[in-house]
Amino acid sequence: MKVIMARKAGFCMGVRRAVQLAIKASYEAEKPVYTYGPLIHNEQALKLLEMLGVRALKEIPRKGQGTIIIRAHGVPPQDKKRLKEAGFKVIDGTCPRVSRVQALARRYSREGYHVIIVGDPDHAEVKGILGYAGERGIVVSNFRDLESLPPLEKYVILSQTTQDEEFFKLLSEEILSRYPGGKVYNTICNATHDRQKEVRNLCRICDAIVVVGGKHSANTKRLAMIAREEGQDVFLVETAAELDLEKIRKYRQVGVTAGASTPNWVINQVIRTLEELPSPYESVWLRWGRKILRFLVESNLALAFGAALFSIALLLATDLPLYPPLILIPALFLFAAHTVNRLVDLKSLRLNDPFRAQFLEKNRRLFSLATFLAYALVLFLSWQMTPAAWVVMGFLSLGSILYSLPLFGRGEHFSPVQRLPGARSLFIALGWWAVLVFLPALVFEYRPVWGWLGLIVFIVAFARAVFLELLELQGDGFVGKETLPVFIGPQNTLRVLKILWVGLGLAILGGLLKGDLPHESSFLFLAFFYNYFVLRQYEKELLGKNFYLELLAEGLPVVTALCLLAGTGVKRLVARG
Ligand code: SF4
Repeated sequence: MKVIMARKAGFCMGVRRAVQLAIKASYEAEKPVYTYGPLIHNEQALKLLEMLGVRALKEIPRKGQGTIIIRAHGVPPQDKKRLKEAGFKVIDGTCPRVSRVQALARRYSREGYHVIIVGDPDHAEVKGILGYAGERGIVVSNFRDLESLPPLEKYVILSQTTQDEEFFKLLSEEILSRYPGGKVYNTICNATHDRQKEVRNLCRICDAIVVVGGKHSANTKRLAMIAREEGQDVFLVETAAELDLEKIRKYRQVGVTAGASTPNWVINQVIRTLEELPSPYESVWLRWGRKILRFLVESNLALAFGAALFSIALLLATDLPLYPPLILIPALFLFAAHTVNRLVDLKSLRLNDPFRAQFLEKNRRLFSLATFLAYALVLFLSWQMTPAAWVVMGFLSLGSILYSLPLFGRGEHFSPVQRLPGARSLFIALGWWAVLVFLPALVFEYRPVWGWLGLIVFIVAFARAVFLELLELQGDGFVGKETLPVFIGPQNTLRVLKILWVGLGLAILGGLLKGDLPHESSFLFLAFFYNYFVLRQYEKELLGKNFYLELLAEGLPVVTALCLLAGTGVKRLVARG
């Protein structure tokens, strides 16, 4: 079935921040760790937080100990004070945009204004803002509430951050017409505004809308309501299991959006379930093309193919013979190392990509056997080359297995090496560099061109690994995996990827200017632009949340190899005259 994903769906900035604070606190803060009320309106994410030892506290006890996290909705100042007085160490997870509304409420209330909050009086965020407005605060949630307003002279109108834009506009205009002179602050958050605008756009091009999110989430319910008002058939689901596939099957094109507290893995599961649904409107070629691509990526065969192609391109670019072991070893070793890592680390994969985890679990024996055979073949082939190559490959194979196993973690899920921030992507890049560059340089003689090509291989492999980790940020964060994106956050990771992108350009330029890379290697600049394209796709969230971006990332080594091959082809054509 054809599925169109809203660009802005899933965790908004405030929810992401609060969840990250809670996960960090579960590892580092004074125990026990609580949240004051449920951290977000999503059962699946809350269960995971419980597994990390973070529990929700409904009432403030007279005496407490440990750490308590204030959720993104915020709380009244009185509650914050009581939490501190009870003896908790308070971590304020209030979304900065909600804090801004609270600050406006406090400021205008102190200046003698009435503070009218347009929102749901039972919602935690509204209660929090009301606490800052004090006695001058009034909540209005519909036109009827306007009848009970007191006489207003100095007043300000604020909105709950997840209010419907149209409704807020109409209601505030009505108040202004009754009581002229009031100030209006549209404090509806951008995240809400963008999602509501997008769902309206989706309604224009889709036959039905699936809204993914918690049944108690205000912004999720509002998205569903907007889609219904636009005349669409709407399916509001918390998980993929709730999809009514029989009903949905009849639609030609379905739009998917999600509330601000819906984790990525829940959205991905819904999208994947819908995409797998046979539809009379979708061509069989397209469906099978997608299935094959998914299979290649999920089985790590795409990665093995990329490694083999890269090896061929490097050998040809350096005028070396196409020695089969040097093509097979990178493919086999990288396949084995990535597969063993996935098989051991199914816990985070279940969150990041449940279908892939199911696929691996179902075929665990087959993949274990394939991994074992791949390692055995690597050792056999490297022994055929030179003893030094055998030692190198033996060391790398053992290292990749030991890295994946939590051997020294005293019952913890991750080994101490895996707990080093950023170690995973660094080791992966070193692995690519070792089999694609170091090994041929060891078997044949070293030449300066290997230095530049080695740098390019390392950057491409590092960028690929970091980018893939960025896509798995949420699941990795929940299971406590210290990947680079988990450690430095998504924005800083994007900066690292941009630095790598610039580094790739400089490495190509440096090699060309020094004359170590032949002129024809200028084709590598296409790989440089491809790298930029991938980054832009992530930034614009143009292609949905996961699989297509993963496919683009897997394309990084393939495209670089193709650029090298193109350069070599041109060089040989020119040489032939
Ligand atoms: S919807 Fe906006 S205001 Fe509310 S938590 Fe998310 S970013 Fe903050």
